[in-house]
Amino acid sequence: MRFVRYDEGGTPRIGLVRREAIVSLAPIAERYPTMLSIIEGGDAALAAAREQLDQGADALALRDARLLAPIERPSKFMAIGMNYAKHLEEADRLGVPRAANQVWFNKQTTCISGPFDTIDPGVTEKLDYEVELGVVIGKSAKTVSVENARDHVFGYFVINDVSARDWQFHSSTMTMGKSFDTHGPMGPWIVTADEVPDPHALDLRCYVNGELRQSNNTGNMLTNVWSQISYLSTAFTLLPGDLIATGTPEGVAAGMESPVFLKPGDVIRCEVDGIGAIENKVV
Ligand code: MG
Repeated sequence: MRFVRYDEGGTPRIGLVRREAIVSLAPIAERYPTMLSIIEGGDAALAAAREQLDQGADALALRDARLLAPIERPSKFMAIGMNYAKHLEEADRLGVPRAANQVWFNKQTTCISGPFDTIDPGVTEKLDYEVELGVVIGKSAKTVSVENARDHVFGYFVINDVSARDWQFHSSTMTMGKSFDTHGPMGPWIVTADEVPDPHALDLRCYVNGELRQSNNTGNMLTNVWSQISYLSTAFTLLPGDLIATGTPEGVAAGMESPVFLKPGDVIRCEVDGIGAIENKVV
């Protein structure tokens, strides 16, 4: 199933995509008023949603909907860096030291924005893009093994890990440059895990103004999704609805010999095959 959140006269609604339309989940909204509550609701919530998908009427055409980020404010939004070999080579050129362990940083949840919302550069002069596969945690995860990690995934989405490169290197945590407001456009929906048999076999691409900048496959991650979940959950509990950005391949502006950073008017399109595409204009 593909879960969307969309705007209806200023009120956020939850729905499911069926062909070119959205089926409203209003009939189950009393039990499951938010995306987070659907995720926390587990199999019972999924069954109730499935029933609406099978029997509900179309609420509106997909093309007429203003889609919102497919989840409200989760408890955590984690992101891994340096997770594709050729992106590591780019980082070498920038003087980023190689790490012995998985490199994690937070994106503050306030940076989350809709799949077609605009990106505000704020004060950065080095605005950059990063197409990534996003993961939504389903069942709560603490000390989960690599083998069992799959059971803790609710679904997948597309994320542009928009980065302010100048602010990113203010400190080694990268936090300041990764969390500007509007720098976490995502969606266009959450595809449930049952529809993604192998998250490590998906082509992903990023275009700027129609020009292909990034193209790779999630099979080339250095640390796969299962190892990421296992590693994080060794230290702390991942809660239902928590988000993980799984790393970007080579081709970011910062990695170019003469970087061409994003500027107002640029349109960035991020695609992950089997999941969907998001498109955001810099203002
Ligand atoms: Mg990233």
